[in-house]
Amino acid sequence: MQYKSTRNSNIRLSSAQAISRGISEEGGLFVPEHFPDLSGKLEELSRLNYMGRAEAILKLFLTDYSEEEIRDCVTGAYEPQKFENDTPAKLRSVKPGLSMLELWHGPTCAFKDMALQLLPHLLSKALQKEAADKEAVILVATSGDTGKAALEGFKDVPHTRIIVFYPESGVSAMQLRQMNTQEGNNLTVCGVEGNFDDCQTQVKVIFTDEKLKQHLAEKGMVFSSANSINWGRLLPQIVYYFSAYLDLYTAGKLASAYDKVNFVVPTGNFGNILAAYYAKRMGLPVGKLICASNSNNVLTEFIRSGTYQKDRQFYTTISPSMDILVSSNLERLLYHLCGEDSNKLTAWMASLSQSGSYTVDADTAEQVQELFYGSFCSDEETQKTIRQVFQKEHYLCDTHTAVAMKAYEDYIRETGDSRETVVVSTASPYKFAPSVLSAIGHVSSEDEFVVAKALSAMSGTEIPRPILELETKPQRFDNKVNKATIKDFVLQTIGGR
Ligand SMILES: *Cc1c(COP(=O)(O)O)cnc(C)c1O
Repeated sequence: MQYKSTRNSNIRLSSAQAISRGISEEGGLFVPEHFPDLSGKLEELSRLNYMGRAEAILKLFLTDYSEEEIRDCVTGAYEPQKFENDTPAKLRSVKPGLSMLELWHGPTCAFKDMALQLLPHLLSKALQKEAADKEAVILVATSGDTGKAALEGFKDVPHTRIIVFYPESGVSAMQLRQMNTQEGNNLTVCGVEGNFDDCQTQVKVIFTDEKLKQHLAEKGMVFSSANSINWGRLLPQIVYYFSAYLDLYTAGKLASAYDKVNFVVPTGNFGNILAAYYAKRMGLPVGKLICASNSNNVLTEFIRSGTYQKDRQFYTTISPSMDILVSSNLERLLYHLCGEDSNKLTAWMASLSQSGSYTVDADTAEQVQELFYGSFCSDEETQKTIRQVFQKEHYLCDTHTAVAMKAYEDYIRETGDSRETVVVSTASPYKFAPSVLSAIGHVSSEDEFVVAKALSAMSGTEIPRPILELETKPQRFDNKVNKATIKDFVLQTIGGR
């Protein structure tokens, strides 16, 4: 299997190259040349556990990795001590026709662990193949959850070092504490004045800075990315869509292995929902993909109109991991839908950066609407949804998952589609405890841990151990920069050793 770039179809790379480079030199994203078809293999896959399913899917895409290497990576990522349950991707039935796919039982309590526990393993093997003896410098722009998950995944991984940038006023108190207390000797964390898009844009600029790359090469280093633009992030996410489907099937909730299932995905950078689309391309019987957004509803508008308009008010919401106006992975979807025409795609992306918007052609827009349904909600509606779901279904959602629940309700109301549906639950409610608590009750304290304990008492749910442990961990980082000095911070960090 080879990979090409969305902006230059002549490029051909191995998966190890695609993973170690992260982003293509002309700014494009790597995509597989074709999608293997698993539609005839679902029965067989249904008999495997999560790790077995992961191995079966990964090996189709990582043809330059040996089976043994893939097994090592998968075992290292999903070993039972790292995830709370018998499976990393727990499917929980909420009411007839609706299940929650809980992807937050890993070390950082958000779905990012599903990919970021695996990526460091894939990347170290890729570096052994592609860049022997080189040290990888991982730059991460985070809207909150990626940062912590990447730190935890890369902590003390040999031949890697990691620098995380987060928007100073865009992450929750618990997210901030998770990052600033991170242990490990190959990492640092830095706040940026600005929003997530500012962080992401600057990190992308650094990645394509030739002089800086040269400077790194002289020190025996290469840049790499743990952001969801990296193929090594997307690939592990395909697995849980298959796994959720197969779990529904083995639980007897589907009439046959051809019955379609809808997925509802709380969406920011379009990585999670893109993996669902890829699963569908691989023959998984997926019905509608429901793309849920908060007030930063650029994707809802795009799905409905075919026009992507990033120049608009940016809202800081109670679902901060979705506070994004430039959803990078949409580029991959559009590339596939427009007939893999990199000229067309490049023109849209140029229009986005030059004039803040683009409009796709009618055929592409029609396919987007056929595949996706988009909806969004405000913070008030998010909290109302948390309250109602808790009262009616006795299920406690985090703020992101609640945005998805609201989109699910909108979709049902609008279409009457009664197909079996899976809502992807992306974070523990304890990661956003103040917003979740105030939806179902009240406590007069601003201390994160007092709030978490009150939430636990009120909801009858347990505080995940990784969050409980933070209370006694010392703060290690207090760095701050502005957009213009991100590059200096990187230079200083890598030069310091
Ligand atoms: C990252 C994140 C999202 C958005 O996922 P994308 O892949 O960026 O679309 C949603 N919810 C939570 C809790 C997240 O951490």
